[in-house]
Amino acid sequence: DLLLDVVRVRRDFPILDREVHGKPLVYLDNAATSQTPRQVIEVFDDYYGRYNANIHRGLHTLADEATAAFEGTRETVRSFLNAAETREIVFTRGTTEAINLVANSWGRANLGPGDEVLISRMEHHSNIVPWQLLAGELGFTLKVIPVDERGVLDQAAYRDLISERTRLVAVNHVSNAFGTINPVAEMARVAHEHGALILVDGAQAAPHQSIDVREIGADFYAFSGHKVYGPTGVGVLYGRAELLEAMPPWQGGGEMIKMVSFETPTTFADIPHKFEAGTPAIAEVIALGRALQWVGEIGLELITAWESRLLQHATEGVAGIDGLRILGTAPDKAGVLSFVVDGAHAQDIGLLIDQLGVAIRTGHHCAQPLLSSFGVDATCRASFAAYNTPEEVDVFVEGLERVVGMLR
Ligand code: PMP
Repeated sequence: DLLLDVVRVRRDFPILDREVHGKPLVYLDNAATSQTPRQVIEVFDDYYGRYNANIHRGLHTLADEATAAFEGTRETVRSFLNAAETREIVFTRGTTEAINLVANSWGRANLGPGDEVLISRMEHHSNIVPWQLLAGELGFTLKVIPVDERGVLDQAAYRDLISERTRLVAVNHVSNAFGTINPVAEMARVAHEHGALILVDGAQAAPHQSIDVREIGADFYAFSGHKVYGPTGVGVLYGRAELLEAMPPWQGGGEMIKMVSFETPTTFADIPHKFEAGTPAIAEVIALGRALQWVGEIGLELITAWESRLLQHATEGVAGIDGLRILGTAPDKAGVLSFVVDGAHAQDIGLLIDQLGVAIRTGHHCAQPLLSSFGVDATCRASFAAYNTPEEVDVFVEGLERVVGMLR
């Protein structure tokens, strides 16, 4: 059982040296966004300092270098997801845009009255609202898989809800609000048995466990750069080649065409370029590639094991706090600890613990339906990354005890 060298990992993150309110920063808001290693920050200096150029269309050296680095990232992402081909990797602005792409392209071409899309009660708003908007327009029905008292998807209810009318199942791999890891491979099997496709929102899985889209059987898989040690402004949609090929373009513009004409119908580029209209976030894409390499250098297996120790340590630590209730007690959980405390508002806890240098998130975590089914409108959430330490968890737990004492 090899252990992650957290001292070495931390040296890569300049931000971890800063202080907040005169205290060393303890950053436990990784489910919202992770911090960025210097190797990724350096990509921006290198790109804008040496080879900033628009990609694909240039025939000069800088454009060639930028294109090679950009397309190189597509291969890095393919390998990260174990996709079969690089043309199955579409760059987007993030998970949200990836899901909106599927909704607006695949959805508009395939959904209508009588059809059903199945999502779950624990989805992030970005995997709810696009489907609600589209259902209102196209007249299909949106159905919702319920969650049990542990924050686990009710698989029996899933099998009851799915039918020959179901065209798409759209679920997250890991819940950002509770950390529940969903059995997406099994859910994909059930979806396929009923002739439905499955879209997996992997925003919270990509940073924490190794992903194999073919082993899962995912038809679509989405994640965001900024949660996996990369920059904001970039994300990924994986789609099976035959699906992407059959899908109409969503956004039109430069880069996504073969031939534009007023006399004959405009024709579109091959995948993935058909779905990448306009100049993409070039530096960000290249930096995402570097981030995924960094993750590979550390090793996702070590990261998974390390974070699960941190979660266990934190769970044991807060257990002694009177009136504290953990939301999300699934046996299979990623490094997310969501909780409420009797007599202390989540917001007040968040503000006061920040004074001690500890960054946690408070609120609904863009998962209002999930929280409302637990009778709360906000929780405190501590979420872990590779650079967090058991000592930081101790600072958090001691801080929480102090803060709760002050509020009661
Ligand atoms: N899905 C999940 C599970 C998430 O945690 C998030 C980010 N909180 C998103 C989707 C949306 O990601 P982004 O804002 O990067 O598009």
